[in-house]
Amino acid sequence: MTLPTIDEALALVLAEVPFLGAEEVPVAAAAGRVLAEDARAVVDLPPFASSAMDGYAVRAADTPGRLRLVGHSAAGAPAARGLGAGEAIGISTGAVVPEGADAVVPVEVTELDGDVVEVGAVVRMENVRPRGGDVGAGDVVVERGALLGPPQLGALAAVGLASVACGRRPRVAVLPTGSELRPPGEALGPGEIYESNSTLLAAQLRSAGADPVVLAPVADAEAATREALAAGLRHDVLVSSGGVSMGEHDLVRRTLGELGSREVFWRVAVKPGKPVSFGVAGATLVFGLPGNPVSSLVAFELFVRPALRLLQGAASPGPRFRPGLLARSVRRDEGRDQLLRARSRLDAGAVALEPLTGQESHMIGRAASADALVLVPRGEGELASGSPVAYLEL
Ligand code: AMP
Ligand code: MG
Repeated sequence: MTLPTIDEALALVLAEVPFLGAEEVPVAAAAGRVLAEDARAVVDLPPFASSAMDGYAVRAADTPGRLRLVGHSAAGAPAARGLGAGEAIGISTGAVVPEGADAVVPVEVTELDGDVVEVGAVVRMENVRPRGGDVGAGDVVVERGALLGPPQLGALAAVGLASVACGRRPRVAVLPTGSELRPPGEALGPGEIYESNSTLLAAQLRSAGADPVVLAPVADAEAATREALAAGLRHDVLVSSGGVSMGEHDLVRRTLGELGSREVFWRVAVKPGKPVSFGVAGATLVFGLPGNPVSSLVAFELFVRPALRLLQGAASPGPRFRPGLLARSVRRDEGRDQLLRARSRLDAGAVALEPLTGQESHMIGRAASADALVLVPRGEGELASGSPVAYLEL
């Protein structure tokens, strides 16, 4: 049986993703959210012709020359009157350029003698920021579907918007499964390990704009698993961890099916992360991530993060691969695309990616020193050092 590729599986996921709807969000609280409608400027930006310099507002035709100082225009406190021939008005950066003035002479090229100021030459509009020169009132400043980061938020505030419509944050249940799991901080019993996936997944979820609800880890027992999965299905998205492989204790897929989840795929031609499952139960998207922590991390980045972004209305849900260069040769996998944990550094202006030693899917400890996932396409032999590759930032 040939498994879907990463791209094929992603397309299957995205085809099932609805839009969760919009809500009004204060711009000051909208970092990391997705804009649900085009945001338009309330005012021209700048709202008036303003000075780019501290100096003197003048008529360019009067320069160079000796001009009579007749007033001052400070930021937020415009001059009391306009400017006539042979006159200058002191002006500060961001202040209104007075009526009649068409240029600003920087203070550095002037000399003040009583109420006479000697100014150097300027041309019309020099050091004047024209009204609307950045953005016009009514113009779209940020497009629907954009992810709101610092530059977008600064622009929204600058054009006068106090709140904007954003895609609702997905409520996502995280369910760790496995009888061996113990919370960090407690003593380990025989055969037990610390439960780490819910911590990792909750952090990934928050960074994708979602609102995680971490459920108590459930043992590999049928009734308990059924009850926990049913609770998880009462969210926009359920992300389970573990129990999707071939073992006799792997109850997640069968139980999800019994609870009415329609499985869209199980297993993808990717390493790590192969046993990932995806399904839909009513209005809930269901991701069954493999238990190995690195598999879970990778499958989240490839499939869950884009789904969360699309639920919020993102125009480009990702995953967002960037270009880099492989810093040492690696062996390809014949059947599966690989995502290798790597460290990035700048090398002659390019991103060089050094895969970590120890790429097994349980090695989450080593993953702590990775900041990138490098995509190594399936194939024969080796991918040579220096090859161009695509990578995801971690
Ligand atoms: P599974 O997918 O349930 O077969 O689990 C694969 C491996 O991942 C096993 O070694 C599990 O002990 C481990 N594992 C499963 N769930 C977690 C978790 N929540 N945190 C850390 N390791 C886990
Ligand atoms: Mg398990």
